[in-house]
Amino acid sequence: MTPPTEIDKFSNWLIQRTGKCLVAGPCSVESEEQILGTAKELAQCDVTLLRGGIWKPRTRPGSFEGIGEKGLGWLKSAGRATGLPVATEVAIPAHVEQCLKEKIDVLWIGARTTTSPIAVQAIADSLAGIDIPVMIKNPMNPDLGLWIGAIERIRRTGIKRVIAVHRGFSTHIKHKYRNQPLWNIPLELRHRMPEVPILCDPSHICGRQQYIASVAQAALEIGLDGLMIESHWRPESALSDPGQQLSPAQFGELIGQVIRNSESAMAGNNRELGNLWRQVGEIDEDLSTLLSQRVSILRQIEASKTEESGISRKSWASICATRLMAAAAKQLLGNGESKPGLCVSGCPHTETRSGESRKLMLHSETNPNSDSMTAEGPA
Ligand code: PEP
Ligand code: MN
Repeated sequence: MTPPTEIDKFSNWLIQRTGKCLVAGPCSVESEEQILGTAKELAQCDVTLLRGGIWKPRTRPGSFEGIGEKGLGWLKSAGRATGLPVATEVAIPAHVEQCLKEKIDVLWIGARTTTSPIAVQAIADSLAGIDIPVMIKNPMNPDLGLWIGAIERIRRTGIKRVIAVHRGFSTHIKHKYRNQPLWNIPLELRHRMPEVPILCDPSHICGRQQYIASVAQAALEIGLDGLMIESHWRPESALSDPGQQLSPAQFGELIGQVIRNSESAMAGNNRELGNLWRQVGEIDEDLSTLLSQRVSILRQIEASKTEESGISRKSWASICATRLMAAAAKQLLGNGESKPGLCVSGCPHTETRSGESRKLMLHSETNPNSDSMTAEGPA
């Protein structure tokens, strides 16, 4: 098997004067006028690479599935007119072939394709011996192995210019974001493959315009190498992903602000600690979502309660005992002794809660007064 190739130093080929690689353009190429108009406006905003989807892997059939091959020519002409290299998504070898024919500058593999090693290998085989940069989005599910595997498959073809793109992950927890960022995954990728540049795609993480700035900011603060942001000259009438696309003017404003803020944040902050706090924040959001789901299920139980379905005091005690044992196994229950610093919730403290008061708290949490059920348990 061919060993993976060296990666070309990123700064040799895709860095703007902002110091970051900025990929922007519409979710989909829709018409010659749309891609050219968008590209002309974006060219005023320090964009490194113009993106535009030609074949759209939509989750459900029946929605706009891309303009197809004829759009490649429009994309390339928009690039020529503005002096920007252009990129599009390929999902099968025939797409690669058509892109090479049209002299598309950069290819990317989308999240749904990265999920399938067979599909990635077919693309890799069609790229053997060809020197073209390839961006590889993370798979839909939070599986770092699949992401790394896809990167390895492309590198083994001899391609030196690969870029990973972090676009968030679909999980069972419903979040304010379309896809959860799970920042520890791109950070672990950085640790495992430090030579591979990583961009963040806040558009597909957020799914909505209003969250994009803060996610883009976080990405730069954790040290990612740039951003891929969807931008359309008329976002509200976009044929795909209308809610998450920015106008070129909004894109320009956001980039200026995010880059300025991340430079000042970096000057004063410890990046490692910032990353850890970001992960705590992410877990806290999941916890509150899960707790609210729990409360709503308990309310359903409460609403449907009949004499027979009420939980007995004895069963409740056994449920509590099991839950506490599970918590203890995860070392979540201390003996009340803690050193000054952070308590288990993350709050800074200097005083130690006594073992007695902790015991009381657990007791009151787990010792029901009656057999009847409330949203929190028997009351
Ligand atoms: C896209 O970039 O428009 C796209 C479909 O992305 P993803 O593969 O990340 O969903
Ligand atoms: Mn999109």
